[in-house]
Amino acid sequence: MDLTDLTIKQAAELLRRKEISSVELTQAHLERIKKLEPKLHAFLHVAESEALKQAEEADRLIGEGENSVLTGIPYAVKDNILVKGFQATAGSKILENYIAPYDATVIKKLKQAGPVFLGKTNLDEFAMGVSTETSAFGLTRNPYNLEKVPGGSSGGSACAAAASEALFALGTDTGGSVRQPASFCGVVGLKPTYGRCSRYGLIALGSSLDQPGVMAKTVEDAFSVFQLMAGQDEFDSTSLPKAVPDYSKHLHQGVKGMKIGIPKEYFVAGIDPEVRAVVEGTIKKMEELGAIVSETSLPHVQYSIAAYYIILPVEISANLSRYDGIRYGLSVPSEDLASGYYQSRASGFGPEPKRRIMIGTYASSAGYYDAYYKKAKQVQGLIKSEFTQAFGEHDLLLTPVSPHPAFGIGEKSSDPLSLYLEDIFTGPLNIAGVPGLSLPAGLSKSGLPIGVQLIAPHFAEERLLQAGSALEQALGLKLKPDL
Ligand code: GLN
Repeated sequence: MDLTDLTIKQAAELLRRKEISSVELTQAHLERIKKLEPKLHAFLHVAESEALKQAEEADRLIGEGENSVLTGIPYAVKDNILVKGFQATAGSKILENYIAPYDATVIKKLKQAGPVFLGKTNLDEFAMGVSTETSAFGLTRNPYNLEKVPGGSSGGSACAAAASEALFALGTDTGGSVRQPASFCGVVGLKPTYGRCSRYGLIALGSSLDQPGVMAKTVEDAFSVFQLMAGQDEFDSTSLPKAVPDYSKHLHQGVKGMKIGIPKEYFVAGIDPEVRAVVEGTIKKMEELGAIVSETSLPHVQYSIAAYYIILPVEISANLSRYDGIRYGLSVPSEDLASGYYQSRASGFGPEPKRRIMIGTYASSAGYYDAYYKKAKQVQGLIKSEFTQAFGEHDLLLTPVSPHPAFGIGEKSSDPLSLYLEDIFTGPLNIAGVPGLSLPAGLSKSGLPIGVQLIAPHFAEERLLQAGSALEQALGLKLKPDL
């Protein structure tokens, strides 16, 4: 038995029955990391000795009867989420030597279950991007085709989960960064409702849009992680005091009678015919499973990207002002304070953060604020209310995740606008704050994974589990990259 082929659920059962130990499970993943990293570069740091120590501790806990499903399960974390004592570079030179002084709340919560932390994964610089090519520490490759990007910005986490280097991986999603790489790499990706999980200890990109998310091999696995991450946190005033339901109750409920809306604006010209075919196949499957599928409309969703690329840069220009060369990371020695700021920022930030800081500063400055930022916020309001309206008639929405499968390395890197357009199907959810699930639904002729996106109303993630797991079972895809 190859221990890296297991799902969390299977591994947890074997651990409980003492048929395997967490040390064995962790060693198998560390060996796989050693074998594959020269090709993939999903990790920025592998915490080998610490992982083995945690695995020993997990075995001891299991021996004492601890029965959380995550005890002893090896996982990876995107390098913009703080894990105390480890680097947190956010993929940027400006944080190259930064060591996290505390745990992000989601990490703290997971640690209570005793999973095994394997290391930190690669990302686009400050999570700005869709390909993991803007990382200051080199690119990550798609495990299904090494000449293609893994998606982004959580490309390292998606790659690690898809290549079985970790049993699950955490990412962050501001405009699609969990769902799009999950789709490109053939794993499940869950972005929770804004306010469902604490953002405390995430290196902020757009504070009104960011959410931590999960990537795993199955919908059930993703939800067993999410179950432990969710909930209000006193350190994040935007996390909401809503009770966290027992998601597992919704696992086998199926989709019979569920009303699923297909927003017509998501089937625009330019969508890859293979993606369209996979999504249409999925819709048919949903109908066979007893769902009631009908068309719906989100008329202003087409303006999501325009609004997103104003709102987000404005927040970026504020959030990234803290990197001044004094308090964090890279500090270029200079004669006076002001030139210290300039030089540290000039040499620490890559081109994409600089571009967005400039756009955001411009769009929020006196004289332009009304024309750009205020307008974008009004558009956001419209889009939000259209989602609410659509959910008056439908339990869920179903759409593509991305207009095409993974694209080639270097293919779009010189054209920022074409990269921004990549968020066309994922960004609207962040604009509206609603949760979404990216689920592998097929393969292109050239062997690249294609995902579909399920969208639920605010705080109705259980519907994503219910429909996602039913669909996963009906599709019966067994994806594994040949590495
Ligand atoms: N592609 C989007 C961007 O570059 C989304 C990033 C994200 O979700 N972190 O902003």
